[in-house]
Amino acid sequence: MNKTFAVPRGTSDILPDAVPLWEELESKARKICKSYGYREIRTPVYEDVNLFKRSLGQTSDVVNKQLLELASAKEDEGYALRPEGTASIVRSYFENNFDKNEAISKFFYIGPMFRGERPQKGRLRQFHQIGVEVIVPGKSMSHRLDAEVLILCMHLLREFGVKEPKLKINSLGSKEDRNNISLWLREEFTKHKNELCVECQERFERNVFRVLDCKNEKCRKVVNSIVQDLPISEVSKEYFIGVQEALKEASIDFEIAPHLVRGLDYYTDTVFEITAGGGLGSQDAVGGGGQYDGLLHELGGDKRIEYGAIGFALGMERILLASEAEKPTLGIDVFLITFNCNDTRKEFKILNLLRQNGINADMNYLQASFKSQMNRANKLNARYVLILGEEEIKNNVIAVKDMQTGVQETVELKNIIEAIKDKLK
Ligand code: AMP
Repeated sequence: MNKTFAVPRGTSDILPDAVPLWEELESKARKICKSYGYREIRTPVYEDVNLFKRSLGQTSDVVNKQLLELASAKEDEGYALRPEGTASIVRSYFENNFDKNEAISKFFYIGPMFRGERPQKGRLRQFHQIGVEVIVPGKSMSHRLDAEVLILCMHLLREFGVKEPKLKINSLGSKEDRNNISLWLREEFTKHKNELCVECQERFERNVFRVLDCKNEKCRKVVNSIVQDLPISEVSKEYFIGVQEALKEASIDFEIAPHLVRGLDYYTDTVFEITAGGGLGSQDAVGGGGQYDGLLHELGGDKRIEYGAIGFALGMERILLASEAEKPTLGIDVFLITFNCNDTRKEFKILNLLRQNGINADMNYLQASFKSQMNRANKLNARYVLILGEEEIKNNVIAVKDMQTGVQETVELKNIIEAIKDKLK
């Protein structure tokens, strides 16, 4: 017997029944992002592997364990599937001179991302994100821009019907603050090294910030005893207060989470994460993001100027799990019943005319009883059924059955398109 194939581990098919839900999510996202002045950008699903290595930082889990590299025919070309959207967008931002042509660039994207994760519920190897990025050359970043991004994020989640979304925010301070905090934390954790979990004992040398959000009870105890607030500079503090006030003015609920750091190396100042209820279980983060000013220099930005940048990404699979979204009931406008499957010339002509006039239509091509064709029409959720039997052909008419009311009427064949159009108005 021939081998049958299965979908790769950690990926899944989005089957036709589920596609309308995804379409709805995407179209809501497009509409809302556009209404905030963000423009869609589509970048390739794979990029130079070094783009990700450089941007995510050598210490992040994504680079250490999760980058899916492509085996390339040519030795000098190393590519990897994108694990997230930010690096690609920053690459494109410079490559296409947005920095020279726009005082502020606002992008959004929708698409698949790839990480070599150990698959579990809500954690896949191919998953989809909706994200936004704002980039400002010249560091005239405003705390209201941070607030705008957060307000947009919460607006999307509300519109998607995500249950109990909870916004947590924190500030990691400037790059300098981050370095100072890192030194301080390393010193403090060294004193408690034996009390940390095995992973953190190893991790705190590489990326001490990750210890702060470790879920292990032992680590939580140590962290709670050392860190109440991150010691950030006055400038960053003021900025963070500005963000909070702007959120309050916009009636966005949030919680300050002093141990929230996010997984990637490049975040500074504002960072945030949104968790949700619904059916998510332990993987309850539906999205997160933050400021990543420093990344712009890493990826080719002009060293003589500063940049401001902030963005977020939402996981679409998790949004669907956490939302009350019901499958939209989609149907076709018209289903054509046929009686002699060996000669459906007339019906086929009508079908094509209907379609060319923008009417969603389908017909029966196979030998099938009237009853089974009516069942099919019901399954397709057809609004009207057209019946062209011997009698109708003889009289140049066609029967139109309204599937909602059950009422059937006869229409002259030459008027059928107009008649259906009228009914669908
Ligand atoms: P991150 O880029 O890791 O901050 O992820 C942003 C959001 O994408 C997360 O909050 C999740 O909702 C979603 N996400 C990240 N990784 C995965 C994954 N492996 N499978 C499914 N969703 C994911």
